Amino acid sequence: MSVGWYSTRAEPGGPLTDFPDALLQGLAPDGGLYVPEAIPALPAGWREAESFTELAHAVLGNWVGDAGLGEDTFRELTADAFSFPVPLRQLTDDRWLLELHHGPTLAFKDFGARFMARMLDALLSRRGRKLTIIVATSGDTGSAVAAGFSGRANIEVVLLYPEGRVSPLQELQLITERPGVRAFSIRGTFDDCQRIAKELLSDEQLQRRGVSSANSINVGRLLPQQLYYLWALLQLEREHGVDAAPVFSVPSGNLGNLTAGVWAQLGGAGAAGFLAAHNANDWFPAWLAGRAEPFSFPATVATRSNAMDVGAPSNFERLYQLGQEQLTALISGYGVSEERTLARMRETHEADGVAVCPHTAVGLEAVALHRAAGRTGPAVVLATAAAAKFPEVVEEAVPGLSATAPELEALRAAPTAVTSLGPDTASVREQLLG
Ligand SMILES: *Cc1c(COP(=O)(O)O)cnc(C)c1O
Repeated sequence: MSVGWYSTRAEPGGPLTDFPDALLQGLAPDGGLYVPEAIPALPAGWREAESFTELAHAVLGNWVGDAGLGEDTFRELTADAFSFPVPLRQLTDDRWLLELHHGPTLAFKDFGARFMARMLDALLSRRGRKLTIIVATSGDTGSAVAAGFSGRANIEVVLLYPEGRVSPLQELQLITERPGVRAFSIRGTFDDCQRIAKELLSDEQLQRRGVSSANSINVGRLLPQQLYYLWALLQLEREHGVDAAPVFSVPSGNLGNLTAGVWAQLGGAGAAGFLAAHNANDWFPAWLAGRAEPFSFPATVATRSNAMDVGAPSNFERLYQLGQEQLTALISGYGVSEERTLARMRETHEADGVAVCPHTAVGLEAVALHRAAGRTGPAVVLATAAAAKFPEVVEEAVPGLSATAPELEALRAAPTAVTSLGPDTASVREQLLG
């Protein structure tokens, strides 16, 4: 079985796109986002899955069949994509952290990037094509894409980041030498990097060679993000003896993670609902509460949970298709201040003995707000990144606490390679064609 995809901007009843084409295209040709013709019911027996990879194979197979790759290849690719643990850590008798930061770049984006990279590479190989992926990054997305896509035979990655404007740790993650990845530090701003990437993507000569953006709206990144919600439900029942359905608190920016959770829920996951946990960029909670017009997005505000600094969440266009009534029944939205984010980091360290990243703290604080509104029951907070990725914020919240991770320490010893270029498209283009 496999699901057909249509564009959010297409007339209903039009032709459907299959998963391989939706994956290769990213955005639909009309500029819309691909959404499923119908959300498939979870496969019978998903509750019996004994490992994350078994669950991944069953659930993703239900969406995409074998994606035209053959059953064995599809099984191998899914097993290889999710080869790291996804533990559920209990904090108190009614709160858990779902740790999504045990992949190579210590953030949940590894799930989407690693699956998409493997599927894309296999499809390119079948079609005898090669692709250069161009990413303008202010930090985290670039490292997840670089780590996820490096070493794929048919894919080269080009990273553009603003020189001197990413944290030292983020820079290390971007310039670590990896097969098939080239890093360029641009002497300009993030906006310069985005402009250059856009111009390169529409350059005819480069287009003939194959260029793409692998951005976060790709269905290949969204689909696997359903899996850990299901895995948490299984672990909650099996290892913690909890029968009551939990709410999931989802630290949100572009709403990709939340969209994936909602798809899993509409497939029959059986959660109690979702908390959309936002920082000061809280347009979506305001819309849910009827206090904002659809698509009337404000400017982005800079916060310490910077991976969620999104004024105009791109996946809203997908969620909106489900209708406000259904969304408000499923999701409660909360905005969390900078002050409460830091306080929650400190309180979690003191009371629960855990160092969390600022994004995860926003998720924890949303649970506290939900409780204050009189809602009880088990809550699972998605821990979207490791605290060690944000040492400056951790030190600010809990003076003297230094969060470290062996993966990041190893980076400091790894060889690096980067080329510094001026903020003009021609010099990057020359490097790519040369
Ligand atoms: C990307 C990211 C988010 C936000 O996820 P969306 O899918 O964009 O809503 C939250 N936390 C971290 C650490 C991230 O990298």
